[in-house]
Amino acid sequence: MSSAIAEKINLLGLTLPQMQALFREMGEKPFRATQLMKWIHQRGVVDFDAMTDISKALRERLQEQAEIRLPRVVQELPASDGCRKWIIEVESGSRVEAVLIPEGERGTLCISSQAGCILDCSFCATGKQGFDSNLTTAEIIGQLWWANHGGRSPSEADGKRPGRRPDRVVSNVVMMGMGEPLLNFDPVMDALDLMMEDNAYGLSKRRVTISTSGVVPAIRKLHERTDASLALSLHAPNDALRDELVPLNRKYPIREVLDAVSGYMASLPDKRMPLIEYTMMAGVNDHRQHARDLAVLLKDFPCKINLIPFNPFDQSGYRRPSASSLSNFRGILQEAGFTVTVRTTRAEDIGAACGQLVGEVDDRTRRSERYRNKAGASVSGGGSRVFTKADNLAVEVRSEHGRDPVTGP
Ligand code: SAH
Ligand code: SF4
Repeated sequence: MSSAIAEKINLLGLTLPQMQALFREMGEKPFRATQLMKWIHQRGVVDFDAMTDISKALRERLQEQAEIRLPRVVQELPASDGCRKWIIEVESGSRVEAVLIPEGERGTLCISSQAGCILDCSFCATGKQGFDSNLTTAEIIGQLWWANHGGRSPSEADGKRPGRRPDRVVSNVVMMGMGEPLLNFDPVMDALDLMMEDNAYGLSKRRVTISTSGVVPAIRKLHERTDASLALSLHAPNDALRDELVPLNRKYPIREVLDAVSGYMASLPDKRMPLIEYTMMAGVNDHRQHARDLAVLLKDFPCKINLIPFNPFDQSGYRRPSASSLSNFRGILQEAGFTVTVRTTRAEDIGAACGQLVGEVDDRTRRSERYRNKAGASVSGGGSRVFTKADNLAVEVRSEHGRDPVTGP
């Protein structure tokens, strides 16, 4: 990248206050910020010249000082059932994925927050890559931009049809793609602001969900920065088992995590429940007793529970639960009074499976090497691509009653 380009400020990742500050610095009126924001995020226009309600002189100044730089889409894959996956190359050179699961005219988009993840949960292919880089705000919000505006021809995106609605409308966003969103705090918070900003995507706070494995200090300060919905990846009813599955539990045990989540929920002005995610692995955490223990653990913790059948990937060492253990598990929780949803599998032909980030993931860390050696996976041509399946992006878009799993009916 040339240094001239690097010096330009990328407007794609600016929140409204940041954009207003920029225009103030340029000696312009702050309302220019809302104009720009609507062009970029609502109309999908990234060419200053097409922004017809902005004077030529200002457009020229913007051209000199700023740019609207989208993350590069390496591949866009449609599935036969309407799901769609974008493979995006971020500035570090790594690839991440976003998956759109349509529901009629609307859809849920799973977004990545990091390339790789340092937390190394035992069942997660992203964790097996190790950590590569944090995504910038532009790279995070860029995934939503592509889902809403991608696939249009340049003439459609050049602003000549500014009132046009995009073909695909994302109604819900879940930060359940690659990475731990709360370990990339500020860029993720700014991206959430843009998702919920009326002049940008205008999504309701009930329809934007952060999923975390339980980074307690970040959950405790979350209320200072957002009022988005929250999902907690629990996966086990006791610390001994969770220590094995989610190594972060050794630092922040279940009680502390639940306490932090309760604190966040209590800080919200409206009544909302967190979603408890529970990835089920055969013979590991899918016994009836685990379900009973989970019901006891969550007895005084208002929440909804989403059961996620494990998505297998090469050499993971885990298996999916059987249909009967899944239904027994669910039945026990329902009898105990919980609302339980089970994540469905779709888009298998593009390896997205609504929860499966199947990607040939760039592999640049020592941990991946150790994992490969341990797993005995073959490495070819220097081994920059090893995993054929990286399934950690799992979303339940609709419960059997047609309710939103996070926000209710
Ligand atoms: N780091 C965050 C968000 C990304 S992971 C978190 O852990 O919550 C999103 C969800 O996918 C998590 O609930 C995670 O536990 C789940 N997941 C990861 N690997 C999976 C797999 N192989 N099969 C099913 N679910 C998986
Ligand atoms: Fe990271 Fe989430 Fe995967 Fe755990 S499940 S390794 S926290 S992305």
